[in-house]
Amino acid sequence: MQNELRFNTKAIHGIVRKKDVHNSLRFPIYATAAFDFENAGDMEDAFAHRKPCHAYSRITNPTVEFFEQTLTLLENGFAGIALSSGMAALTNTFLNLLQKGENIIASKYLFGNTCSLLKDTFNKFGIRVHFADVNDPVALEKAIDENTRAVFCETIANPQMHVTDFSKVSRIANQHGLVVITDNTVTTPYLFEAKKHGVHIVVHSTTKYISGGANSVGGAIIDLGNFDWSRIPALEKYHNLDRFAFMARLRKEVHRNFGSCMSPQTAFLQTLGLETLSLRIDRSCNNAKIAAEFLETHPKVKKVNYPGLESSDFHCLAKELFRGMGGGVLTFELADKQEAFEFIDALCLIKRATNINDNKSLVIHPASTIFADFSPKQRQAMQVTPGLVRMSLGIEDHKDLLEDISQALDHLSWKGSKRQ
Ligand SMILES: *Cc1c(COP(=O)(O)O)cnc(C)c1O
Repeated sequence: MQNELRFNTKAIHGIVRKKDVHNSLRFPIYATAAFDFENAGDMEDAFAHRKPCHAYSRITNPTVEFFEQTLTLLENGFAGIALSSGMAALTNTFLNLLQKGENIIASKYLFGNTCSLLKDTFNKFGIRVHFADVNDPVALEKAIDENTRAVFCETIANPQMHVTDFSKVSRIANQHGLVVITDNTVTTPYLFEAKKHGVHIVVHSTTKYISGGANSVGGAIIDLGNFDWSRIPALEKYHNLDRFAFMARLRKEVHRNFGSCMSPQTAFLQTLGLETLSLRIDRSCNNAKIAAEFLETHPKVKKVNYPGLESSDFHCLAKELFRGMGGGVLTFELADKQEAFEFIDALCLIKRATNINDNKSLVIHPASTIFADFSPKQRQAMQVTPGLVRMSLGIEDHKDLLEDISQALDHLSWKGSKRQ
């Protein structure tokens, strides 16, 4: 009856597993590097992939596999793999799909490290990236050439809070036979059903919502089973495996050789996180919406960026794509860097930390931290202004959060109304 279960039930009961020898209700942590074989013949079979079994935990581990299968089920995917971090998931995805001389089109609004990976790291290996406004079909089409293999975007990119218009992206990608890869970190399969919107590969930093409260660093790649891999030259050796081609090269070559595996201890925590995912996301999105509405009416705040606000350019799109919710992160503009710093320093409850989608509410000044390596001109192009503050709303009581935000704004020296 697996396919009939709803999201929340699948998150708890989705994967049918063998009964545990001790009747443990929770899948145990298999804290081991290697696994025992009965005889040399079994070992030979294992190495030839004739029998599914575990041999060495860099390659597969039962606890990690349980997490991979649960997340794949929640994404309605075909196959999935867990990795040591979100950056490892992105690196492995691109290296699996691209070879020297090929390129991808990436949204110009991206997580800072992803931008640097594509622009600086891969560039030296001959893998190119063309940045484009992926919501603009003309710009997207113009960026594509005969060596383009994929389009990459995030569901809601921060700090711009830019929402990708997937109907446009997937239409053009399909016309050109390109893989649509999406970073679903901030929306997770609970808010965004990637497969329904024409995505082929989903990438996650499971460090954020999925971990269950920022208790560990992790990543995942899910193949949604809806792309014809015979179009991808980098997978040539695996074309005979049809639907398995992408995951086969990843498992047998790229992931195995790079060695960025998830530990069983982390997989245990992340599986626990999946069980409570929707409860936490509902509260966090609700808190973010309440905070955004409060900030929007505050005279000291110039502008609030949050797709859950009716005034947002992305409101309709977000409503349609993300179960009517706007996510747990918002950004807003104060007068300048000094005001942003004053505000951040005056917060009592909300923590100053470089993370998002934690159970705790967190705040950061993007221009001086995550975007510090970019030039002022680049920051301007990415809409990272000196007065911009990013806030990720946790699952605390919204009244306490509003009190904290309100008292911190009261701290700012009054420079008159800045609202246009
Ligand atoms: C945090 C984050 C990453 C990187 O993930 P790590 O687990 O820190 O390596 C990638 N993409 C997005 C959208 C993120 O928020």
